[in-house]
Amino acid sequence: MSERMSDCIFCGIAAGEVPAEVVSQDDGFVGFRDARPLAPVHLLVIPRRHVGVAESGYRVIMNTGPDAGQEVMHLHWHLRGGTLPGGMA
Ligand code: 5GP
Ligand code: ZN
Repeated sequence: MSERMSDCIFCGIAAGEVPAEVVSQDDGFVGFRDARPLAPVHLLVIPRRHVGVAESGYRVIMNTGPDAGQEVMHLHWHLRGGTLPGGMA
């Protein structure tokens, strides 16, 4: 997938060409407020590069609290693409 898609609004935000309320950013990622929030805090976190992860799809998982098996109490998401032998993403 290319570095930049000319018709992509989020690429425009990452490039600083489309206005957004940016709350955090570094060389790789930008976090900004959703333009149509559905919760008091509704952020979008995007990679700067317009990348795909896996041709056939992927799964994003967030384990929160002991019932979900969270081991590390630092906010994080699992991004799982592709499959391991005998498994699923
Ligand atoms: P999706 O439906 O792709 O999962 O979510 C896209 C999100 O992007 C939506 O919640 C929508 O409100 C937000 N969004 C779309 N265009 C803009 C924009 O130009 N600026 C910002 N800050 N958010 C946007
Ligand atoms: Zn893009």
